[in-house]
Amino acid sequence: MIDATHAPGLRSWVASANLHSDFPIQNLPLGVFAPPGGLPRAGVAIGDMILDLAAALPGVVAAGPTLNPILAAGAPRRRGLRQLVSGLLATGSPDRARVEKLLYPAADCTLHLPAVIGDYTDFFAGIQHATNTGRLFRPDNPLLPNYKYVPVAYHGRASSVRAPGPPIFRPSGQRKLPEEAAPSYGPCRNLDYELELGIWIGPGNEPGAPIPIARGHEHIAGYCLLNDWSARDIQAWEYQPLGPFLAKNFHTTISPWIVTPEALAPFRAPAFARPEGDPAPLPYLADPADRAAGGLALRFAVAIRTRRMREAGAAPHVLSRVGADALYWTPAQMVAHHTCNGCDLHPGDLFGSGTISGADPGSFGSLLELTQGGRTPLSLPNGEARGFLEDGDEIVFTARAEAPGAVPIGFGACAGVISAPPPAPGR
Ligand code: CA
Repeated sequence: MIDATHAPGLRSWVASANLHSDFPIQNLPLGVFAPPGGLPRAGVAIGDMILDLAAALPGVVAAGPTLNPILAAGAPRRRGLRQLVSGLLATGSPDRARVEKLLYPAADCTLHLPAVIGDYTDFFAGIQHATNTGRLFRPDNPLLPNYKYVPVAYHGRASSVRAPGPPIFRPSGQRKLPEEAAPSYGPCRNLDYELELGIWIGPGNEPGAPIPIARGHEHIAGYCLLNDWSARDIQAWEYQPLGPFLAKNFHTTISPWIVTPEALAPFRAPAFARPEGDPAPLPYLADPADRAAGGLALRFAVAIRTRRMREAGAAPHVLSRVGADALYWTPAQMVAHHTCNGCDLHPGDLFGSGTISGADPGSFGSLLELTQGGRTPLSLPNGEARGFLEDGDEIVFTARAEAPGAVPIGFGACAGVISAPPPAPGR
């Protein structure tokens, strides 16, 4: 639903918001921040500033360090909140003098996870990623026969999902390269990232009550960027027969702002264009409205900045760019599939889309694909080469929503720096 909060001509009295690449007044993403010396609290990003939401709207937003109640309340409540905040921050607002004192420079604040994440599920909806990685193991038959029927996923670990800030410690674990006779325990040698779209779950469902596909969108409370840091050598040794485990649950980084479905309303796009010959989704995954507008007009970018680049003051180097149209399944299809057996979802649950890759190397969402498992290292502009990540490397994801007639919005950065492994456990 497009309303006055999306008007292209709308401007904010917060000067940095106007023409801001991520957070103009048309975005108004929700998060949890702590101002200097203060406790974590709900906030809205506006330009280079953060608005203290509970202080600005007392009696509307409860003071507290998580947004789970807002996620639980669903779309009508979110839309009402968006209209109130837009009114406070719009040029000419009569509340400016009061609200101005409740703004903090984002650069001075600490961003926290926006909600308590009860459960985290990682899908595999990037069909080109599934094909590229499948080809590494099965050159003639890269996609398994279930792929175009089942939105494949595994249950991840919510405890290790973090906002940007803390270092990404190189994990240690069991790894065995094919040429090695026996496994050993030690620091991961093939550390990688995975570019994913994060999906925040809203109201959710009771056990035993599947969410129909046509209502799937009502249970999506917002979106973020997600980096599923992956230890490829640990993964290769441990993943059969039950799938990813310690290769994936040492750290997952998400961008800390929840970009709401309301902010993304002008950027709806058709679902994946299934080529001739692909099976139709089973009826419980098929919905005409979702097919017409269940996707998002989002473009992602992945950039690297090595320690040497940082010390030289060089900007991050873009490794790839890809669109959300590379996802074979829509978020509503993920919700419908996840609950089709009666599994209950809760406010603050998080989905990962799966790695997003396009058809050409400039659009691959992991180093596994970009370097063919490390065999063909990338050359960086300063002469360094990378097969996988080295200590000191920073990976930065960004995203931008663009559509004709709409003010573009972004997600903020999802960034992390690799750090040397923590000490090994004693015997
Ligand atoms: Ca993943």
